[in-house]
This record gives sequence, structure tokens and C-alpha cells, in this order.
Amino acid sequence: MPRSIEELKERFEREFASISGMEAWKSVRDTFLARDSGIITAEMKKLRELPKEERPAFGQAINRLRSTIENRLQERHDELKKAALAGLQSRLDVTRPGFPYALGSAHPIKRLQAEIERIFVNLGFEVFDLTEIEGDYYNFEALNMPRNHPARDAQDTFYFDDTLLLRTHCTSVDVHAMEGRKPPIRAVTTGKVYRRDPFDATHSPMFYQVDVVVIDEGITMGDMKGMLEVFLKQLFHPGIKMRLRPGFFPFVEPGAEVDISCIFCNGAGCPTCKHSGWIEILGAGMCHPKVLRMSGIDDSRYSGFAWGMGIDRVPMLKYGVEDIRLLFDNDLRFLEQF
Ligand SMILES: [Zn+2]
Repeated sequence: MPRSIEELKERFEREFASISGMEAWKSVRDTFLARDSGIITAEMKKLRELPKEERPAFGQAINRLRSTIENRLQERHDELKKAALAGLQSRLDVTRPGFPYALGSAHPIKRLQAEIERIFVNLGFEVFDLTEIEGDYYNFEALNMPRNHPARDAQDTFYFDDTLLLRTHCTSVDVHAMEGRKPPIRAVTTGKVYRRDPFDATHSPMFYQVDVVVIDEGITMGDMKGMLEVFLKQLFHPGIKMRLRPGFFPFVEPGAEVDISCIFCNGAGCPTCKHSGWIEILGAGMCHPKVLRMSGIDDSRYSGFAWGMGIDRVPMLKYGVEDIRLLFDNDLRFLEQF
């Protein structure tokens, strides 16, 4: 072996013996094997300067040295990796308890929407998922509220332009369900509605409603009362009582305000029901013949009823939530209680 190669091998052994970790290993590898600046590459370049007859012996010697260095370094690399892994395992305690994850749950309003829809699906209703941006025609005109009708004032409306608005109620489901369908019609929809109301403990410019419409031959107010009772008893409590009072809505005739017996005092009288024993819960009535005719239903043959209820009222009554804003603030401290 040429003298210079012998010296290189000794130098490698010295440096190799001092490798204590991965950093040192990399440094030794680069010193000897780096493609551009490594010692082996530099030696290979010397080959050209040697006399022709010395070249084969020198070339073989340098190749042998390179493969020795490569093999030794590979072995050392495997050892270092094994040791690192063993160190890691000794710090890994698989018996430690895991990190707790908070579990989410459905928002109380969303849960109620699903519960209400389920009640009506079980009664054979079709669920309508309608858009919150509605035509003036569906929100007002087809519901017997032409332009300049005084009842429009009661529902201060967000308008986009002359024909488009944010729906002020879900009652537009009456029109959508009747259009292009033949009775019997049984439709329900739930969703957000918008009015230019202040944002305080009992008002919000956005709230949730459920609206229902039923059209068929021979539908009477008795049918309406029966269905309302089934629904309200399922939603609140099987023991609640219900009563109807005369009420006015342009799209029904006759119209009714519906009360349930106070769920806080069972009808005995308390501050929530203003000592009357009753709580107003929704508006209902028999579909106005004009509304039926406008949507292409023969009002001499068919009749129907419709009603609408604020969904936000339910958790306020059921769980005693006193401020409607709590339902929309997305404060987890509040929502996690449901
Ligand atoms: Zn009461």
C-alpha cells in the first residue's frame, strides 16, 4: 500500500475512534467521503499526476480504503441509531393517562330543529329546506299581504331590492308546498328568519321558526287543534293543556293565538306567566281562501291549516333561559350545559 494511503487509513481510524454521536459521525463522513471536498476525492485526483505504471496499484489501494471507510461508517451509523432508539423507549411511559379531549355536541337550537322535524316526519310530513333569501312574492304577496298592506309594518323587513328580502317568517313554506303540488299536502320547515328588531333579552334580529301547512279535502279547525296538541305534548310535556284564542294573521281565516298551560307553575300562576297560568306559544289558523287560490289550489274543494312557532322560545321555556342572546353568543360555558 502506498505510504500516503497508509497514513490516511491511520488518520481515519483515529477520527473514527472518537465518534461519540451522530454529529461527530457526520463530520467524519464528510471529511473523508464528501463528493466534492472529501479526502478520498482529493486522492483520486492525484491519480492523474502519477507515472503510468504506478496508477493501477494506487487506484486499487484508494478504492479499497474507500470501501473500508464506507463499511465502517455504515456499521457505526446503525449502532448510533439503535442507541438513540433505546434512549427514547426508556423515556416513553405507555401507562401514563392520555390528554383529555373536549367532546362537542349539537347546539340546543339545532337539536330542537331536528327533534321537531322528526315529530312531523313520523306524522307523514315532507320536510322543506328553503333559502333564507326569499322573494317578496313568497314572503308577503302570495300570503295575502300585497304591497302597502298594513300587516307588512309589523314585520320590519331587511330588503335587498324591490323583489328580494331576508325572509321574515317561515310561512313562505305554505306557498312553496302548494306550488305545483296536488293535495293532500303536509309540509314542515324550520330555519332562521330575520326582522329589524333590537337585540335585547327578548328580541333578536335573527331567530328560528318552525312552520307547518296541511291541505286536503275536509280539513277543519278540529284537525288543527288535534295536531297541535300532539305536537306540543311531545315537545314539552304529555301533561300540558292547550287553548286557542282569536288572533289575526293575514294569511289565515279564522286565525288563532295558541297558549299552553304554564310549564313552571302548572297553571297555578307565577311571574313567568304573569299569574295567568297560560303562556302564548304560537300563531295558527285555517288557510285563507285567497292564499289557496293564488297558489293554484281549488278552495271550493280543499281547505287547510297552517301555523308557525318561534323555536328559540322553547329552550327559553324548557330550560328557563332568560336572555335570547345567550343562544346566539356561542359562549361554550353556556352551551356546554345542554
Ligand atoms: Zn306560571
